[in-house]
Amino acid sequence: MRENSDVVGEETDKFFSYHNLYNQLPLKVEPVIDDCTLRDGIQMSGTAVSPRHAVHLAYLLDAIGVERLEVHHFLKNDQESIKLIQDMNLNARLAAWCRAVRSDIDNALRLDVEEIGISHPVSKIYFDIKWPDKSPEELLERVVDSVEYAKDHGLTIFIHGEDSTRADWAFEREYINATAEAGAEVYRIADTVGVGVSNPKARLPNGLPQKIRKIREETKICSIEIHAHNDLGNTVENTIASIRAADGLFDKVYASTTMLGMGERSGNAETEKVMTNLYLHYGVNKFENGLYWLKEVSDFVSLATGIVAPPNKAIIGENAFAHESGIHTHGVLRNPYTYEAFPPKLVGNIRRLSIGKQSGKAIVKHKAEQQIGQVIDVDNPKLGTLVSLVKGMYTSGERKSSLKDMEFKDLVLRAGFSTKSTK
Ligand SMILES: [Zn+2]
Repeated sequence: MRENSDVVGEETDKFFSYHNLYNQLPLKVEPVIDDCTLRDGIQMSGTAVSPRHAVHLAYLLDAIGVERLEVHHFLKNDQESIKLIQDMNLNARLAAWCRAVRSDIDNALRLDVEEIGISHPVSKIYFDIKWPDKSPEELLERVVDSVEYAKDHGLTIFIHGEDSTRADWAFEREYINATAEAGAEVYRIADTVGVGVSNPKARLPNGLPQKIRKIREETKICSIEIHAHNDLGNTVENTIASIRAADGLFDKVYASTTMLGMGERSGNAETEKVMTNLYLHYGVNKFENGLYWLKEVSDFVSLATGIVAPPNKAIIGENAFAHESGIHTHGVLRNPYTYEAFPPKLVGNIRRLSIGKQSGKAIVKHKAEQQIGQVIDVDNPKLGTLVSLVKGMYTSGERKSSLKDMEFKDLVLRAGFSTKSTK
């Protein structure tokens, strides 16, 4: 994947590591990635994944360090995918998404899944619409019954608090305690419509750090989880803030994420962003080797779902390490860290230096040297001709986008150089 990368030499600098550019804050809580691309991700409008693709995606997600894979299990296709994933014996655990009804749990049991998430709303907005005749106590009883039933059948359970960020804390506390007592091990704070706030001063119900402190102080649940939606564009911030808030309070904190942030409406927190941030800013070294596959996983997700990441998408986008303007390319050619936060190869991406309307002499020289396979003297008149030819393409209005390699090669020849393939 890296052979077309514009290598400019920083990788060989033995005296400098990009890690020196990060003031890492080590965590006293272990973050665990629960990827729900195969559940929430494919609930995204117009998206479906075949069993063959689901299996390969599960394999790749396991390879990058995802420890829990959340899946649907109601349709024939989903069930076929689960069987095939189980046959691979991955390190990642499979977790089936269930409603608080016995029939869903029975279905998971029939498929030999060992872990389930039981989803139930915790806010009045949902109660009033879905169950206007039932009291919160009756609803809680229903959920507790489901947790006990699952526990009695040997399942590991994480409990979802749907719409947690708009719930009344007195009810939510009771819900967490009752389900923990019934056997749930993890409580998932579901920021269902993305109104969670990362500021430690923000109050309940939508202040995420305060909620996490309250859960520690006032409930018996062992671990917590954050499932953030992106309606206000805050998913990654809210996910990382929740992990930070769990620091020193819990042994484990689960981050529920999807590749490319796929999911309902504006989607979820991106698996690739959460992992890379945790590695770079918090020194979560267990992700180090897996990060290299992020670009490949992202490309595969696009192939399997038809959802293509925009070019400027962080980490895995085609332009995440692309440089064109004179100032930027000149800087990157001398030291890539002038305009790059980390080496592209860390996440399996590549650097692209392109020739365009703002390109200067340095990048034209660099790209021409790649074409002819030898160093060009900065005073070589042919280089001056080549720079003029490039500039001419744009000043004449003939061209707006970056030059393709073949077009640039043609200009190199017109400037009087002999390229490698024409010698
Ligand atoms: Zn969701």
